[in-house]
Amino acid sequence: MYERDEVRYLCPECARAYRPGMPLQGVLEVVFNWELLRARWDATDPDWHLFTPVESEYLPPFAAGGTPLMRADRLGQELGLWNLSLKNDGLNPSGSLKDRASFLVVAEAIRLGEDRIVTASTGNAASALAAVCAAAGNEAIIFVPATAPRAKIAQILLYGATLIPIAGSYDDAFRLSLEYTAAEGGLNRNTAYHPLTIEGKKTAGLEIFAQNGMQAPDVIVIPAGDGVILHGVFKAFADLRAAGFITTLPRLLAVQADRSDAIHRFFSTGTYADAPSPDTCADSISVRTPSNALMARRALQESRGTSATVSDREILDAQALLARTTGVFAEPAAAASIAGLARAKNAGWIDPDEHVVALITGHGLKDIDSALQGIQMPPAVAPELEAVKKYLADGRP
Ligand SMILES: *Cc1c(COP(=O)(O)O)cnc(C)c1O
Repeated sequence: MYERDEVRYLCPECARAYRPGMPLQGVLEVVFNWELLRARWDATDPDWHLFTPVESEYLPPFAAGGTPLMRADRLGQELGLWNLSLKNDGLNPSGSLKDRASFLVVAEAIRLGEDRIVTASTGNAASALAAVCAAAGNEAIIFVPATAPRAKIAQILLYGATLIPIAGSYDDAFRLSLEYTAAEGGLNRNTAYHPLTIEGKKTAGLEIFAQNGMQAPDVIVIPAGDGVILHGVFKAFADLRAAGFITTLPRLLAVQADRSDAIHRFFSTGTYADAPSPDTCADSISVRTPSNALMARRALQESRGTSATVSDREILDAQALLARTTGVFAEPAAAASIAGLARAKNAGWIDPDEHVVALITGHGLKDIDSALQGIQMPPAVAPELEAVKKYLADGRP
């Protein structure tokens, strides 16, 4: 256990064996003073800030989180689930759940008086950091694979961040950003490497609990790349249990793309190996070496959870199903939740009556090119009623 200003990133002891290119060791977790928290807690007017490790005065002027939890009855009927809800984090200001982590790391940078914040990202963490830095007036230095979806790159540039597009993978960007901060300074926001990324993502879990009438659902479905959202949501319920507010954790279902499946294989076999070629249309969960593989596995074990993998075909089908039954347009990584949920339901891991919350982690407009793969653009119709009738009679594409 360390005091907050004794260490910044990983546990110095456990991380001795860590080298860039392997899953992080010594990822730190924030521990609260539960007695103090309980003493200050007022159940009639809950102050969720008590679960936040940065003082309110440092929070940047940016509205991260506070996204809706909505019932999804039509989608539930399709999947054979009678109590299904969506937590739609695509409605964050930059369009993904990553705003939560960036928000808290920028708050910490403000507390520390660090002006520059550095991150590696597949695209969403970067656009989130760029957005929060724009609001706070901090400098963001961002390493992303040059192949990231164009909308995410456009966001980063418009928010005024310094973009370094890497001719390489996300894993290359991760390593480079660590080398850069070691040599040039600034606060590194890499996922799990900075412990407050977990605390930031934790707020999604706390909100699910609060919006569900101060109760944990039975199951929460979470797409997993580095496994930090998974860990963060787990930490929410672990903290609620430590505070004495719940006794049972929700079971967590982690969903990965079938070639980007290092956490899935680690959880199912107990042996860690990289995902050698993590190609998937779900760019936000494409990772060879999940930085948070160790804690992700623990989150699945302790929550009596499980993991599933899904193909790109299943992801794109789920994206379309989700859109036409709920009105929620999710990016492929977020739609993976629904594809994995279908798998777990069919495998009998979920009962039809259980209360399931699927976390939708990013907005569909972030990656329009993937969505277009499953859609045929209709030809233009002449502006005459006869042409419209003929078009409809011929059957829309
Ligand atoms: C980052 C991200 C994920 C995966 O989160 P990890 O913490 O890397 O597991 C899933 N979906 C979207 C849209 C994301 O941006």
